Amino acid sequence: MRPADILTLTPAGLFCPPGDFHVDPVRPVARALITHGHSDHARAGHGAVLATAETLGIMGVRYGEAFAGSTQIATYGEPIALGPVRVTFVPAGHVLGSAQIIIEAGPTRIVVSGDYKRAPDPTCRAFEPVSCDVFITEATFGLPVFRHPAPGAEIAKLLQSVALFPEQAHLVGAYPLGKAQRLIALIRETGYERPIYVHGAMERLTDYYVAQSVQLGDIRLVRAEGRAALGGAIVICPPGALQDLWARRFPDPVAAFASGWMRVRARARQRGVELPLVVSDHADWDDLCTTIVETGAEEVWVTHGQEDALVHWCLLNGIKARPLHMLGYGDEDATEAPPAASGQAGGLDSTPAVQVATGRVPGPGRPREGEPSP
Ligand SMILES: [Zn+2]
Ligand SMILES: [Zn+2]
Repeated sequence: MRPADILTLTPAGLFCPPGDFHVDPVRPVARALITHGHSDHARAGHGAVLATAETLGIMGVRYGEAFAGSTQIATYGEPIALGPVRVTFVPAGHVLGSAQIIIEAGPTRIVVSGDYKRAPDPTCRAFEPVSCDVFITEATFGLPVFRHPAPGAEIAKLLQSVALFPEQAHLVGAYPLGKAQRLIALIRETGYERPIYVHGAMERLTDYYVAQSVQLGDIRLVRAEGRAALGGAIVICPPGALQDLWARRFPDPVAAFASGWMRVRARARQRGVELPLVVSDHADWDDLCTTIVETGAEEVWVTHGQEDALVHWCLLNGIKARPLHMLGYGDEDATEAPPAASGQAGGLDSTPAVQVATGRVPGPGRPREGEPSP
């Protein structure tokens, strides 16, 4: 069977005709395989859902236990037969429970990687490269300008600012699923033992991580504390909360935001972020290219993001490649509206190429990136 007969593009997303299933469909379908719990990939209303136990757990937290007609657990590394096709879930290193899905039909092997990263993350299993004929990848940060620094260096920036301004609360915007819990775990790795406060919108997902034995230390809810306790504290909140009325309860807070997009200064400025932290749950340019080479794939399909640049890179390196221009997927920025996902297709409103260009020209008199304002 040719790869195009094993996996085709439909309005609902990638579809496997011989196995009769979709992967991460953006519309309700009869049978869905879900790579991970982010709202642009995991939607409610499918007939049957096959995913890792953690992804099913996350979907239950977000949508309620009746999010699908039926569910089946996929265990990492254990093949499951679906008609003439075999599927195997393998760690993707993106968020808790995230998986790449290997689809095998006869001798042909296709890997749908979902979202993935190669950088260290204490909250989930590390990405495992799988050799394959066709590798399907995202390209959220698929431009050479996107090189994520080591997460430890970004956490050190945050802790330096906390030491420098011990009276000020540090509000750190982070997506409620994955990034928030990863930041807390990375902060704990440095030996920081004080309570870390979380916004109510991340309470249930954070509790779910803890219930899955992810060590996060002393976590407290902001709403349970008086103002006095919050001076000098680290507070993790959804990005939108930084500009909310909610943020006004903190006297003179320092606004931080942890995202791969913080590489783009214009984005940090737009959001009023004083302390941009470049911490991403997606592969950067180097890791996208390295991963493609490691899979040994003869052919690459690019689902969304900066498809053209990555396709061009593949072609230059003798690898067949094509952009799928898939709609309905974005970085979690576009879709992950706190506190709960709406299930709507996310708007791909971000045009990073343009914004990167803008980011190269800092406005006059701006504080330098990474420096907290006085
Ligand atoms: Zn994701
Ligand atoms: Zn995504």
